[in-house]
Amino acid sequence: MEDRPYVSVLIPVLNEQESLEELQARLHNTLQGIGKSYEIIYINDGSTDRTQIILEGFHRQYDTVRVLEFNRNYGQHMALFAGFEASKGEIIITIDADLQNPPEEIPKLVKAMEEGYEVVGTYRKNRKDSILRTLPSYIVNKITSRLVGVKLRDYGCMLRAYKRNIIDYINMCPESSSFIPALANTFAKKIVEIEVEHEERKRGTSKYSPFKLLRLNFDLMTNFSLLPIQFIGVLGIIIAILGLLFALFLIARRFIVGPEVEGTFTLFGILFFFIGIQIFALGIIGEYIGRIFQEVRRRPRFIIKKELT
Ligand code: UDP
Ligand code: MG
Repeated sequence: MEDRPYVSVLIPVLNEQESLEELQARLHNTLQGIGKSYEIIYINDGSTDRTQIILEGFHRQYDTVRVLEFNRNYGQHMALFAGFEASKGEIIITIDADLQNPPEEIPKLVKAMEEGYEVVGTYRKNRKDSILRTLPSYIVNKITSRLVGVKLRDYGCMLRAYKRNIIDYINMCPESSSFIPALANTFAKKIVEIEVEHEERKRGTSKYSPFKLLRLNFDLMTNFSLLPIQFIGVLGIIIAILGLLFALFLIARRFIVGPEVEGTFTLFGILFFFIGIQIFALGIIGEYIGRIFQEVRRRPRFIIKKELT
């Protein structure tokens, strides 16, 4: 194998012992079929099952396999950041370990890259996930593309290809939380999105709980725009004006009809509404402050416990 492979395939792995054998076999066949040099980098994101043992087995068996092991779970995107830093390929491809993105789609991405694109995104043809997983994603996709201004057809599909220069730019961003497809698109000029197959998860379970998914979406929103906080500001002005008009109305009413007493509970309703808005605003502000705090701490984003190259 040459020093610099042509293709780097990066795979974040969290407790995927059931899928790994089939994944490696199919990846190996597909990449051999392309006929160019390649490396496969598995990033073990703090798995607690047999994942590490299996990956070390791959490393012994195939000289194309590299393994990074985190000391704990840092999340899929951090795993990919570590993979980006370790990768040497001209074309960098990210893929999930659970076989929901068929590895056989990789040549399609490589081909598209060779047409001169800097980023090749994908969208899932007929997404095979439960409605509980697809409906939130659908809403999230709609809101985020509005908000973020980085248009992606499918934010959740991580089967993607990037050119070396884009990865070099990403490596210059020491963000402690991020959303890779959006980050990449802010650097790239020539982007294309192609359609790929999507399969049901055959083995194991989704590693994203609804809470983790919500966190991820907050990453996406706050890292790429100030819109949420600006939106709250505008909302605050509108509400203040409405409140003022309402107070004027009550004063006028007092002169014409007399004071209102029965309206006590209306007042409560209104009060709660305002309190809700305030708490929401505080939450958003807290979100940003928390992120500033994270950034200024300058902690290492991840710790690689073991590296097999
Ligand atoms: N993953 C990871 N760290 C995490 C969560 C997920 O490395 O904290 C990996 C996981 O092993 C898989 C990929 O990221 O390879 C996508 O996760 P999953 O398939 O569970 O997400 P879903 O398909 O449900 O969106
Ligand atoms: Mg999956």
